[in-house]
Amino acid sequence: MDPDAAPRTMPQLVAFAAALGENPCLRCGACCAHYRVSFYWAEADEAQGGAVPPALTEELPPFRLCMQGTNCRQPRCAALLGEVGREVRCAIYAGRPSPCREFGVIWRDGVLRSGPEELARCNAARAAWGLPPLTIGPARPDAPPNVPTPGDAPLAPAA
Ligand code: SF4
Ligand code: SF4
Repeated sequence: MDPDAAPRTMPQLVAFAAALGENPCLRCGACCAHYRVSFYWAEADEAQGGAVPPALTEELPPFRLCMQGTNCRQPRCAALLGEVGREVRCAIYAGRPSPCREFGVIWRDGVLRSGPEELARCNAARAAWGLPPLTIGPARPDAPPNVPTPGDAPLAPAA
């Protein structure tokens, strides 16, 4: 690579990773540190099949909980590991709550699959962190066509 063309800033790195066909969520995490992540309390009740660790939740009366750290002016989910815009992962990925599973931004086979509303939510969070917007479609020339797959498990969180 031409050294002058190498990415230098974090937003450039994120865009560069996406262009290579890498899931941009792995170098983002903006939505986990932008929205309040709230859900019905039973999602953290093991007796009812809930898988969200109660210790990482806060009460949101009367019937809801939210991820700890997301109900404040500068939110950051307590389960988010790493540095936003650099390298992140969810510490409770398998047991994350429904808004995270249903956020609607899906990366598969080097293709971003998302509806316009979901993408707008994603890009609003990214903009708040100074990250460039993502667009729907293949990031690599050899990637298969973008086909929305609403039933897929999303890779990241929500409001
Ligand atoms: S869904 Fe969007 S905002 Fe959330 S981690 Fe992925 S790229 Fe970032
Ligand atoms: S995916 Fe959900 S639970 Fe995991 S870090 Fe992001 S907001 Fe928190």
